[in-house]
Amino acid sequence: MSAFAELKNEAANAFGELGAWVHDEWKRLNDAFFYGENIAGAIIWKETPENRSLGYYDRAGNLIVLHKTLMRPIYPVTGLTWGPRRFNTRKISDVLLHEMIHQRIHQTGGWMGENSHNNTRFVNEVNRIANLLCLNLKAKVIGSKTRQDQKIPAEESECLSLKELSHFPYFTRSPSYYYELS
Ligand SMILES: [Zn+2]
Repeated sequence: MSAFAELKNEAANAFGELGAWVHDEWKRLNDAFFYGENIAGAIIWKETPENRSLGYYDRAGNLIVLHKTLMRPIYPVTGLTWGPRRFNTRKISDVLLHEMIHQRIHQTGGWMGENSHNNTRFVNEVNRIANLLCLNLKAKVIGSKTRQDQKIPAEESECLSLKELSHFPYFTRSPSYYYELS
């Protein structure tokens, strides 16, 4: 069995249909956005550190953590087996895509800069992927400026803010995007 098939099997045992589905989705995104080059790791569902984000990439373990709140169905379903179709697959897919950017950067030499989002490599990936997603946006590394003796980010209105960069692409989607069932 391939490493990918083993990971998918383990996820199916631990998290059911959703666990298996998210591995197939990882493979689809890998082919569509990363030339099939990301090296597969486990994808698990639990809380992220300090609940700061919906996803987390653990570099040491090549592990993607998706926040367990994403497992909630988008509307209550009674008498039916829960499955990916009844979850907000678009949201999960976007969070997964974000963590896969971290995965790619780590697996191709890492990054240097202020943090894992505000650095040249992450910003370049955001611009490249936004283009493929037909999202009309521009990202730039954000410097800082001093105002009243305080250092604040020097954000430019035509570029992504630090927050949007740290939550790309899900903070930059149109609000209706996640309401349509896929
Ligand atoms: Zn991130």
